[in-house]
Amino acid sequence: MKLYNLKNHSEQVNFETAIKLGLGQQQGLFFPVKIPIITPFELSDILKMDFITRSTEILSKFIDNEISKKKIYEYVKKAFSFQKPLKVSINKNISCFELFHGPTLAFKDFGARFMAQMIFSLKKENENFTILTATSGDTGAAVAHAFYKMKNIRVVILYPKGKISFLQEQLFCTLGQNITTISINGSFDDCQNLVKKAFDDKKLKKLIGLNSANSINISRLLAQICYYFEAFSLISEEQQKNLVIAVPCGNFGNLTAGLLAKSIGLPIKSFIACTNANDTVPRFLKNRQWKPKKTISTLSNAMDISQPNNWPRIEELFRRNNWNLNDLRFGSVSDKITKETIKELFKLGYTSEPHAAIAYRLLNDQLKEDEYGLFLGTAHPSKFKDTVENILKNSITLPNEIKCRIDLPLLSHNINPDFNQLKEFLLNK
Ligand SMILES: *Cc1c(COP(=O)(O)O)cnc(C)c1O
Repeated sequence: MKLYNLKNHSEQVNFETAIKLGLGQQQGLFFPVKIPIITPFELSDILKMDFITRSTEILSKFIDNEISKKKIYEYVKKAFSFQKPLKVSINKNISCFELFHGPTLAFKDFGARFMAQMIFSLKKENENFTILTATSGDTGAAVAHAFYKMKNIRVVILYPKGKISFLQEQLFCTLGQNITTISINGSFDDCQNLVKKAFDDKKLKKLIGLNSANSINISRLLAQICYYFEAFSLISEEQQKNLVIAVPCGNFGNLTAGLLAKSIGLPIKSFIACTNANDTVPRFLKNRQWKPKKTISTLSNAMDISQPNNWPRIEELFRRNNWNLNDLRFGSVSDKITKETIKELFKLGYTSEPHAAIAYRLLNDQLKEDEYGLFLGTAHPSKFKDTVENILKNSITLPNEIKCRIDLPLLSHNINPDFNQLKEFLLNK
């Protein structure tokens, strides 16, 4: 598999290098040179396969002969070794496609776990890797669980002290073993700066085998393509003809994966790019001016991003496919409407959370008579327990993934946002 850097098309790398580097020169994103094609004839066969076999087919079309299909099958099987996504019907024309039944109760498990398998596969037998990453919540949990107990891989996760929820902290700071968590006396930006400094320190990088696991890694996106095919396989032929998918967007990785699925031949009629008040993309689609504003805090905090880093990939997909950006549907939803929508869904018998509720709102408002709609459930409502309980005045039960960790002691270390402290820690612990 060959990929090029979107900022400098002459920088071309193979899949292995793209995974290792994460980003290319000038922080450019990697994008596949060749987009494989699944013909309508192949599609009907592929849709009949089980989730793991089908995902292997799709991924090997991209990865090509760089990794054998047999090996890809093994990695996919390990990566997706949890409850498959579920389709839950809301009304006659709309269902939620729930992607949150993995170990950390968010769709990020799919991408993070496949990426972890890929990074492990690149590592030589006796090589030691340190995966260093900063998180504001969900990503850290997914990455920690994805690498948990992998031999010769140490994971170090930085997060801002006191700025992630109690449940989030319990979910990944109680693991121990090869997972080290450090709370930083500072903000998320401080955490990210520390990570950046570590990667800029060439000597340190070499000494501890530093590798990144950030959200722009191409292996994550490829993994996420697979569940769009699963969604398609779960609906009737009639519904397949006019399928609209609403995606709650933050960094726009999930939507990129959906558009990649469409590019290779999954006939999804339309996507809705859904945001909260951080609406850089909806404003851009309206007037073609890219004007990020200051990021604001909302109820759907995983979508509080005003400079979505996957957007250049989406533009490239439209360009490569000769699609028109005018065909991408979009919208943004305020906190007030999000709250009302969570209540509305509850009346319909469905307990949701702010991210999925935004997607449902726009889907329900924009869906045409003859269309069928899916909105993506990106996180389990219990991950936003306090918010949801506050809105619904109703208590929600915790699934086992969280319940079993709630009483475990936190194993986090604590340091100041000071690079020398981090460096000493990385070299000596
Ligand atoms: C990360 C996340 C999103 C945003 O996904 P992107 O791929 O970054 O657009 C939406 N909802 C939840 C719950 C998330 O954790």
